[in-house]
Amino acid sequence: MPSTKTRFAPSPTGFIHLGNARTALFSALYGRGHGGSFLLRIEDTDAERSRDEFVTALEEDLRWIGLEWQEGPGVGGPDAPYYQSQRGAIYAEHYQRLASDGHTYPCFCSEAELKLARKAQLNAGQPPRYSGRCARLSADERAARMAQGVPHTLRFRVPDARTIAFEDAVRGPQSYSGKDIGDFIIRRADGSAAFFFSNAVDDAQMGVTHVVRGEDHLTNTPRQLLILEALGLPAPTYAHASTITGPDGAPLSKRHGSRSLRELREAGYLPTAIQNYLGRLGHTYESDELLSLEQLAAGFDLARLGRAPARYDPHQLLHWQHQALAALSDDEVWRWMGVLVEGVVPADKRAEFIAAVRPNVSFPEHAFEWALRLFNDPLELDDAAREAVAEAGRDFFTAALAALDRHPDDFKAFSGAVKEATGVKGKALFHPLRLALTGHPGGPEMGRILPMLGYARARARLEAAR
Ligand code: GLU
Repeated sequence: MPSTKTRFAPSPTGFIHLGNARTALFSALYGRGHGGSFLLRIEDTDAERSRDEFVTALEEDLRWIGLEWQEGPGVGGPDAPYYQSQRGAIYAEHYQRLASDGHTYPCFCSEAELKLARKAQLNAGQPPRYSGRCARLSADERAARMAQGVPHTLRFRVPDARTIAFEDAVRGPQSYSGKDIGDFIIRRADGSAAFFFSNAVDDAQMGVTHVVRGEDHLTNTPRQLLILEALGLPAPTYAHASTITGPDGAPLSKRHGSRSLRELREAGYLPTAIQNYLGRLGHTYESDELLSLEQLAAGFDLARLGRAPARYDPHQLLHWQHQALAALSDDEVWRWMGVLVEGVVPADKRAEFIAAVRPNVSFPEHAFEWALRLFNDPLELDDAAREAVAEAGRDFFTAALAALDRHPDDFKAFSGAVKEATGVKGKALFHPLRLALTGHPGGPEMGRILPMLGYARARARLEAAR
């Protein structure tokens, strides 16, 4: 048995979003959990849509989310290069072999002709498949077109009578008929390798044993198996993970508020939160606890991947964000809060600030709001706060000022004294005090906030309220 090798094979045509991050995670977890390795291959054969900046970004984003690859760009490996755009010589050799065994033929049909034919088939309620027109050209006709320099793709022949059956590790037994597939393109007119071909050849060449990818690739699999068979190359085990959908059941998109890893990182999501969320999106773990990547890998099982579409739930993601945040040390939380917060919180208040605020924030921007509320003067009150403060009245804050003089950093004693002096209690007591001191109706415990504000600032704020 070859040792387990999994891979992530993104096309660098955009930033990694939750859908492909999940596929990458599953692949990496499976490789790791089976004592194997995980490789990264950049599928950049489509020169028009592939961009260097996306390659850089996706490598960065994968590292950020903790998915290091053992083979691939930057780290090298026995099957380099790991960029498909640099693997032309390998593909040429395989095209040659397929051609000499009679598996392929040049197709001179233009885009426009093909489009028209597809439309006609669809209108007639038939599945769109290539008519086989160029397969029937005589050797002379072919030679003549070649001599004229008519642009051509390379097609792979699929016998109508063929049945292609395979066992998908998630979706069980699959069977396709050759006549529904039709002859398909394996080299584009510009000479670049088409997906079915380069993807399958590379998996085999690189010794990939398990291909975990999205359900949208399921119907590509029979084509890829035919290519591998024709080349006498080993086929990997395929595992097609269910699609992620939005709440409306449609494939997850920006419209559902789905964001790229990049945007999630910028918003302050923690890698562990994303790992724990995605690891459970269409896959079950026995534990509801926050798991490390090692633990996620140990519990990962292809048999635990669901067949039903997995619904994206931002509340769940937020739940894991809170779990991940709670697991950080104070120093880590401080770094996570970032430079904006650092610029506002006085150095001698840092420890108190972190302790008070960390249970109340989900993202660094919330921490920044708290830093401003606590340490930026004058405190701005919104209309609702002003109204509540006005309702408490002048006498209430006069009493509060007197109470503060006696209990400058003990909120319990301070509020007790206000209560005693005014007879006001419960929400009517705490709400205006909190608003006057922080401008906000909720948040960290006042017992922590009052000493952090310090006597002078608390006094100024109560004065202002009065
Ligand atoms: N480049 C393909 C994609 O990004 C890879 C599919 C696969 O994993 O086989 O969709």
